[in-house]
Amino acid sequence: MQRYTGYTRYRERLEQKEMTCVQQVNTFLDRIEGRKGLNAFLEVFEDEALERAAIIDAKIAAGNAGKLAGMVIALKDNICYKGHKVSASSKILQGFESVYSATVVERLLAEDVIIIGRTNCDEFAMGSSNENSAYGVVKNPLNEKLVPGGSSGGSAAAVSARLCHAALGSDTGGSIRQPASFCGVTGFRPTYGRISRHGLLAFASSFDQIGTVTNNIEDVALLMEVMAGKDEYDATVSSKPVPLYSESINDLEKYNLVYLDECINHPGLDPEIKNRFKEILKTLQESGLESKNASFPYLDQMIPVYYVLATAEASSNLSRYAGMTYGYRSKDAKTLEETIVQSRSEGFGPEVKRRIMLGTFVLSEGYYDAYYNKAQRVRRLINNYTKNLLKDNDFLILPTSPGVAFALGENTEDPIAMYLADIFTIPSAIAGLPSISLPLGWHSNGMPYGIQIIGRSFDESRLLAFSNQLMNIFARRE
Ligand code: GLN
Repeated sequence: MQRYTGYTRYRERLEQKEMTCVQQVNTFLDRIEGRKGLNAFLEVFEDEALERAAIIDAKIAAGNAGKLAGMVIALKDNICYKGHKVSASSKILQGFESVYSATVVERLLAEDVIIIGRTNCDEFAMGSSNENSAYGVVKNPLNEKLVPGGSSGGSAAAVSARLCHAALGSDTGGSIRQPASFCGVTGFRPTYGRISRHGLLAFASSFDQIGTVTNNIEDVALLMEVMAGKDEYDATVSSKPVPLYSESINDLEKYNLVYLDECINHPGLDPEIKNRFKEILKTLQESGLESKNASFPYLDQMIPVYYVLATAEASSNLSRYAGMTYGYRSKDAKTLEETIVQSRSEGFGPEVKRRIMLGTFVLSEGYYDAYYNKAQRVRRLINNYTKNLLKDNDFLILPTSPGVAFALGENTEDPIAMYLADIFTIPSAIAGLPSISLPLGWHSNGMPYGIQIIGRSFDESRLLAFSNQLMNIFARRE
């Protein structure tokens, strides 16, 4: 089987009858079986995927197949797919089936994608290593002693191990980009409001965005064209028209870049990543691209601001899991209060509980102003400052994460160390800007890492075109 390099080439092969969707799905099913030990999938829709593949093969033969016909994708387990289980990798949603599909899922199905399964993740997308899943850790496919990153670790592992063409993830503070960096794949987070969140199990609603994990830029563009755009079920989605991103990914422009002193000089940044980053900048400068440095005085505020606001929103969003309407209900509870307390005590894992408590605390009457309100104000400052930097410059460039994938268990006892893994992915999440992690670095220990580009609001077209340019210049050739 030829290596998959992007949907267009694959579609040509399907059209020319060099291969079929059924064959493709079978290949993936074999690979999923072969790499079961990764624990990337919580469930594989084997029969259904094969049935759908046969239907789509017939549509292709008849000439009436959709735009993404036969693309095989995996869904993070916090995205609803009607009639299928969805658990956010939590015991509290044990046995729960989606009663409707997320808008993105409906749009993808309408273009004939094949959904092959749902992928493991940190419980309610809270985590940076996929060790917070109620259904076991996911292993990094490139070194099984290491974490895949999180929270969309199953999605990143599945794409990296080539168990599907692409996967959807969700990114609240870095959950697509950081695992993409750890697994050597491309992770994309769109502008806040570009894509509907209808059918995404909420973690922190003012941060959450659905995005993609892929092996190339073309697939990001194609998936985005199908998924993005206004949706009557999500009032935060912009009604701005959705450009045909795939038509501009080969545009070559001379962009201006800005890189941030505090990121490059961050004490936690791995020296090899720092050197590679400088090397990339130098090569770009030599090829005529302008880049300059700027100060980013808020870097130290990122983690506190994010963890105050995201946990506050989470404590409110997760109050709906009370053992009444959905999923798990404690067997021993007798009264209403016992049902709520015990179902939540037994159903949620330790990290989710920690966040609900932290979020409840920062929202409580005596502390609201000191924490929640203050964090909102700092968020505004960060937004203004970041948007200002992007006024005269097209993109911000920075590493995706300070380091490469760490060992399983290495940070589980130290939540602060774990939270620090997000320091470079949080800025764009706070500011709601589109950002992408590109697999452009390889550490001497054999692991990949990402370089991150942040673009202007709703400027996905140019962000993807520039990303494509970078991949063409710097990606490792296999
Ligand atoms: N790792 C971050 C957290 O634990 C980000 C999670 C996410 O983006 N969903 O909150």
